[in-house]
Amino acid sequence: TSFGFKEVREEDKSQLVGNVFTSVASTYDLMNDLMSAGLHRLWKDRLVSKLHPFPGMKHLDVAGGTGDVAFRILEDINSTRHRALQDATEDYLHEETQIYICDINPNMLNVGKKRAIERGFGDNKALRWVEGDAEALKFEDNSMDGYTIAFGIRNVTHIEKALAEAHRVLRRGGRFLCLELSHVDTPIFKELYDYYSFSVIPAMGELVAGDRESYQYLVESIRRFPAQEKFASMIADTGFQKVEYENLVGGVVAIHSGLKL
Ligand code: SAM
Repeated sequence: TSFGFKEVREEDKSQLVGNVFTSVASTYDLMNDLMSAGLHRLWKDRLVSKLHPFPGMKHLDVAGGTGDVAFRILEDINSTRHRALQDATEDYLHEETQIYICDINPNMLNVGKKRAIERGFGDNKALRWVEGDAEALKFEDNSMDGYTIAFGIRNVTHIEKALAEAHRVLRRGGRFLCLELSHVDTPIFKELYDYYSFSVIPAMGELVAGDRESYQYLVESIRRFPAQEKFASMIADTGFQKVEYENLVGGVVAIHSGLKL
């Protein structure tokens, strides 16, 4: 069965994407681990290490429903690496760390909130859960030190709008980072990857999540997403400087970054 996604009118897309994530939220973690053989954890670690989080930072993680990226940022800030800095600056640190987790789907936010409690972050004041659309952020201009979006931008209806919003809310010097499934072009690896994504992933979705269509949509949306160079030029066209990307696992995923200067 085909999702027939290309035939779907644009105004219906957000609704449809919402439904997809409502239906996968419960088995979301398990599927992520299975599909990426646990690698998504390392990819998210890499994303956060490129962010260089710091105590007192104001950060926005968009499409961050499950909290995976936000928890890593918080853990990094709380780690011993920053302990000395924190102790030394405690009295001078006027700004408290604020990590906003923004997601369009309240079910994903609820999964994230539940996980925050499980991880002992239940009453952590830094984590702030906000329901909202990447294309129309409810944050002020120049208000964020950092912006991350992990496996999220592929799902927004107008990528350019989401990029423009990222640029708007970042302060000068603020860093944009995007982790996304991307394009593989090494010949043999590409064939293996195509087989894996077109045959294995939908079957796995059916078996584990009882939902072949959502995972079929996932695979199709990866194909439609612009390749690394194209996406980098879209980021640069938004006004970001020093735009770069890093391929992981031969381009299965890529981390794009840019600075608002
Ligand atoms: N960042 C998390 C991670 O890496 O585990 C979640 C990624 S999940 C694949 C994609 C998320 O994007 C979902 O939680 C979905 O609700 C959210 N999403 C889709 N469209 C969005 C939009 N326009 N604005 C904000 N979030 C959106």
